[in-house]
Amino acid sequence: MTIAYELGDSLYLNITNRCVNECQFCVRDYKDGVGGYNLWLDEEPTSDEVIAAIQEQKALDQYREIVFCGYGEPLIRLEVVIKVAKWLRNYDVAIRVDTNGLANLIHERNVTPDLEGLVDVISISLNAKNANKYQQLCNPEFGSDSFPAILEFTEECKKYIPRVVLSVVNYPTTSIYECRKIANNLGVEFRVRQYSGSDAEKDE
Ligand code: SF4
Repeated sequence: MTIAYELGDSLYLNITNRCVNECQFCVRDYKDGVGGYNLWLDEEPTSDEVIAAIQEQKALDQYREIVFCGYGEPLIRLEVVIKVAKWLRNYDVAIRVDTNGLANLIHERNVTPDLEGLVDVISISLNAKNANKYQQLCNPEFGSDSFPAILEFTEECKKYIPRVVLSVVNYPTTSIYECRKIANNLGVEFRVRQYSGSDAEKDE
């Protein structure tokens, strides 16, 4: 069971296989993992198991950043992210979360203040220019509430996290120009991820 794995100069943490979306482009639909790692979990790791998996890797100062990721949506396991990030704060390494931006709907409250001081970068999947397109592309469990919730989550993250990035997958139906405008209007960074391209571009 792969909990911690290296991609490039980053260490990724695979803390859940659960997600509230079923995106058309989700890598989980056509691969068992990325970078040669099988990322299907037999069971979700506890915080202690995540920390133990990190300790089996190289010294933390050898990594550019530690990334809370999937194979699923990491902020479903908010408590694990918080506990492990607090432990990581003992080391001089940047902490990133890759998320679908739906954590406030998942937890039915604004969770972004919980991440203050613990997360340096948050990469939020926007993936569509409006709610209709988002529903078509991402089949969200929360339906039409999802897209506006992502925009609101992004605004909230700006208050607590130093770097906020909105990202899109370079999927045939994605309007990259419109999505970039949304990121510009929100005053956050924008990144295009390659569809089924580099393993390092696995999101959430
Ligand atoms: S949000 Fe991420 S993990 Fe969830 S279905 Fe979409 S691409 Fe897959």
